[in-house]
Amino acid sequence: MRFSIDCPHCDTRAIARSSHKLSDTMREITFACPNVECGHTFVANLEAVRTLSPSGMPKNGLNLPLSQHVAERVMRQMQLQLSLA
Ligand SMILES: [Zn+2]
Repeated sequence: MRFSIDCPHCDTRAIARSSHKLSDTMREITFACPNVECGHTFVANLEAVRTLSPSGMPKNGLNLPLSQHVAERVMRQMQLQLSLA
């Protein structure tokens, strides 16, 4: 499945035309609306914002925060292990 978003003006599903990397977590994507009566072209950002499961190959200096519910689960597991120790 290709990622897409709707045209903000006419709600037609826009088509990604190009993209380039801004950083390890951010990519800029240029979209074009296929509705000929609209014809809007625009730029959107795609950003990695949270970690659900930590990487087995962590990159130095890259720190994506744990998602809140994952952090709470990890804390409960640590508390359980401490109470069993
Ligand atoms: Zn449009």
